[in-house]
Amino acid sequence: METTLTLSAKPHFVVIPWPATSHMIPIVDIACLLAAHGAAVTVITTPASAQLVQGRVERAGGQASAGITVTAIPFPAAEAGLPDGCERIDHTPSVDLVPNFFDATAQFGEPVAQHCRGLMATHRPSCIIAGMCNTWAHGLARELGAPCFIFHGFCAFSLLCCEYLNTHKPHEAVASPDELFDVPVLPPFEFKFARRQLPLQFLPSCSIPEVRLRELREFEMAVDGIVVNSFEELERGSAARLAAATGGKAVFAVGPVSLCGTPGLFDSRADSDDARRCMAWLDAKKDRSVLYVSFGSAGRMPPEQLMQLGLALVSCPWPVLWVIKGASSLPDDVNEWLQENTDADGLQESQCLAVRGWAPQVPILEHPAVGGFLTHCGWGSTLESVAAGVPMATWPFTAEQFLNEKLIVDVLRIGVSVGVTKPTEGVLTGAKNGGGRPKADVGMEQVKTVLDMLMDGGVDGEARRTKADELKAKAKAALENGGSSYMNLEKLIQFAG
Ligand code: UDP
Repeated sequence: METTLTLSAKPHFVVIPWPATSHMIPIVDIACLLAAHGAAVTVITTPASAQLVQGRVERAGGQASAGITVTAIPFPAAEAGLPDGCERIDHTPSVDLVPNFFDATAQFGEPVAQHCRGLMATHRPSCIIAGMCNTWAHGLARELGAPCFIFHGFCAFSLLCCEYLNTHKPHEAVASPDELFDVPVLPPFEFKFARRQLPLQFLPSCSIPEVRLRELREFEMAVDGIVVNSFEELERGSAARLAAATGGKAVFAVGPVSLCGTPGLFDSRADSDDARRCMAWLDAKKDRSVLYVSFGSAGRMPPEQLMQLGLALVSCPWPVLWVIKGASSLPDDVNEWLQENTDADGLQESQCLAVRGWAPQVPILEHPAVGGFLTHCGWGSTLESVAAGVPMATWPFTAEQFLNEKLIVDVLRIGVSVGVTKPTEGVLTGAKNGGGRPKADVGMEQVKTVLDMLMDGGVDGEARRTKADELKAKAKAALENGGSSYMNLEKLIQFAG
């Protein structure tokens, strides 16, 4: 197929990421996979994110890189009252500015539309894939006569749960945010959640304005299909159930997209010295001996909770690679403790290497020395761990992470739960720092017990490792010629063509 298509006959995908770091990573990888399958792709981004996008495109190499045009269109940050250069939601300095960010995203629709109208003369867009909050993309696609797909960044299972919540609204019938209710989406498994564990759009305290949430739901219902970073063998029929639950929308699982790059290459965002330091440190460790700890692109714990985690990490018998976000805003005493008790430069005695900043997560997880991952259950991290065959300890923070935890622990049986029941508040949940330092919900001993189970765990631990190895092999096979994700990418291209 790749060789027979002429440039003008190639389907042309316009990919418009929702501007959040962890969203951009997989959607740009999807663009790379489409290009590797012979499609022409234009990725539309903003000046501050162009380098991140271009870096990932270059990392993909070959036909994937050659088939992609990256276009940067100015983001109306100042017009919406945002600081200069605030072009990704995770750059928003305070919760008060979240509505402004959504205003800017809404205003961004018109210059993008103008650019796409211009493309009609040269290479007509045949399909738009838009990040979930680019809700104007559906109207644009209709104007261009092209189908429109949404990319949430969620897995099919979590989207299925959300569809159930939107339709049946069990969370609206409970008396308190702690009361458990059933979400029966994947029998014979039984799932119970409390309202406070649900994704943001189902929380009363959400900082996203209601009008924007309504637009999001309308967008979800209007699109022709859903692209998912996952693979069919992983989620026990969730993609097919999601298609049925959404009235027959096309649902294409095309991942794990982290496998699309050149193996071993670092993420271009990682400072190369930091990246080299992590990898050199791992090279000196025994196979499957290291515990990797990271909570996504933005996950920050309150200081007292971070201390309890830290005490558990420095006292456990395994080498630990711990990625800490927001260290600069931690209180002095916590920073001093970190300085004294962890290894900041790979030279001290501590078994715990602390990385303050951006770590090359995919190469870390793929390193043979890594034997377990303490994760916040963000879907990107979860799937990267699955693709690398690494069992997880689950510590969900927010968003759909409590839903992902059920998939990891109860359905796939490749994880052990830390037992967190309350979300860790962040910028999108609308929580602001109150006075004083809140007490830790999860104590050091609780963390240690779970890490013991993860890294050793006897027969159960061995069973988790075996399952994780099996899924790793299935993940790789899904993207190979004839595999489920490979075939879904072909179907998506046919849908557009
Ligand atoms: N990531 C990374 N280095 C870091 C932190 C995060 O490479 O130091 C990447 C990680 O590999 C994943 C993404 O950022 O691709 C995080 O996405 P996820 O869905 O797990 O969590 P979120 O950031 O949305 O909470």
